[in-house]
Amino acid sequence: MPLPPPKPEVLSDDQCAIYHEPLIVPNDDDEPLKPSYVIDDLQLRCGHHFHKSCIMEYALSSPSARERCALCRANVLDNNGRYIVNIKTENGYAGSMDLGKDIDEQAFLEANPDIARAQVFLSLMSQMDFIEAETLLKGEDGMGEGKLSPNVTYEYGGQTAMHMAAYNDDIEGIQLLLRYGADKSIKDESGQTALDCAKEVKAKDVIALLED
Ligand SMILES: [Zn+2]
Ligand SMILES: [Zn+2]
Repeated sequence: MPLPPPKPEVLSDDQCAIYHEPLIVPNDDDEPLKPSYVIDDLQLRCGHHFHKSCIMEYALSSPSARERCALCRANVLDNNGRYIVNIKTENGYAGSMDLGKDIDEQAFLEANPDIARAQVFLSLMSQMDFIEAETLLKGEDGMGEGKLSPNVTYEYGGQTAMHMAAYNDDIEGIQLLLRYGADKSIKDESGQTALDCAKEVKAKDVIALLED
């Protein structure tokens, strides 16, 4: 007796087409009703649903994957070449976004690990997460080679972590940066040093530290 034909794979709209796992994963925070900005469900033009991270990983794998659905291989770009997708978040927000921008930014950072590390460092410093920030200065972050310079700048404006720490009256941040040899004479694109920034916001402890 012949074997029965294989069952067509049934895929429901609430499962990711890559791992077939539920798209909406409720977080188990104490406050389940607080707004979530995490995109849970992302739907391509062909109708297939994915986790954002799953389809991003696929799109980054090759130039042709950048313009095709991971499941049905349909073209996902609109007439203007934009990768517009429908999104939903856990708390019910629905809308659309240009996923192509996120994919291209991610591809750029993967191709430029030094810029990616600098961005991570600046973001950790602005969140005052000094323990994590210091792992980059020590070169122990595992994201790239060697010790990160404390003088790296934001992509626009030419400001360093020290400029931002001065604006934020962040003594601990300035002390960390100085310990790793940060150059306090660096000027941003408007010609300001970190000390100028501290004076602008009257951060007197920071001023005292930087005038030393
Ligand atoms: Zn997935
Ligand atoms: Zn598809």
